[in-house]
Amino acid sequence: MISVVIPIYNEVALLPRLHRELAAALDGVGEEWEVVYVDDGSSDGSLQAILELQRGDARVVAVELSRNWGHQPALTAGLSTARGHAVVLMDGDFQDPPAVVPQLIAAWRAGAQVVVAARSGRRERGFRRVLMPLFYRVLHFLSDMPLPLDAGIFGLLDRQAVDAVNRLGESNRFLPGLRAWVGFRTATVLYERGGRAEGEPKQSFWRLLRYALDAIFSFSYKPIRLSLLLGGLVAVFALLYGMSLIVCRLLGLGMFGRPVVDGYTSTIVSILFLAGVQLISVGILGEYIGRIYDEVKRRPLFLVQKVHRRAP
Ligand code: UDP
Ligand code: MG
Repeated sequence: MISVVIPIYNEVALLPRLHRELAAALDGVGEEWEVVYVDDGSSDGSLQAILELQRGDARVVAVELSRNWGHQPALTAGLSTARGHAVVLMDGDFQDPPAVVPQLIAAWRAGAQVVVAARSGRRERGFRRVLMPLFYRVLHFLSDMPLPLDAGIFGLLDRQAVDAVNRLGESNRFLPGLRAWVGFRTATVLYERGGRAEGEPKQSFWRLLRYALDAIFSFSYKPIRLSLLLGGLVAVFALLYGMSLIVCRLLGLGMFGRPVVDGYTSTIVSILFLAGVQLISVGILGEYIGRIYDEVKRRPLFLVQKVHRRAP
């Protein structure tokens, strides 16, 4: 069986068409399926619309969340509810076209356990158009492990990968990152990301910013290491500059043709040197905090693909 998980927040205008197109796409695949709609605390009657769909189609599963939790928590809820051998994650606003879902399933049948739908183009509007590709590039540069460029949550996970992702208990979730982190045989399907079919995006700028920071800080130590690097550079500079000042002072030479003012040497050298020491200390603290962060995330140390044993 194949499950499709879709988070829904105030999408009442889109739901009937979404389900119609999805059902048509899934019926062509020739496999049993269910669609898990996660109502993320909608206030426009989306839940009633989902239940209405369910009355007409027993393959609809509705998860009603207690309030609006956000895109990633809603997807996580759906992921733990889905019962399929393969689970497709997608948005409910047609930016992830239902027609692409059979391609994901085909890649899964061909042996992939994780199928990433990557955007060959996008039709976003406003700040999303500029900032989203930029974000993915910054993340790609910063991240401690390779994350696919221009891939959001749209994709497919087989049961083994779903169970692995469900084991990850961290609360600042960036699913595209977690999906890459669990590994397994991965395939990529390219698709043209459409514009939103109707209405305005339901995630605010601040939500997306927070999401971007979650992504960077859950997958990278580099921001912390920056202060260590900076501290090292300042300290080395202070040392060289200080030594040259001291030498000039002792030999009674001026700096740049002028006599050195009394007290300047000791003041500037101690300021520079202490600044370097402080930055290095912050960096060292950061290294410890980074490790504490890793420990509290409690990600498994490894995931086994398969244990191969020879039959006796
Ligand atoms: N969504 C949700 N909870 C939220 C915000 C959005 O479940 O708090 C759903 C929304 O209904 C849609 C998907 O998540 O199906 C993607 O949201 P949207 O298109 O608004 O955001 P985008 O990522 O395009 O900015
Ligand atoms: Mg959208």
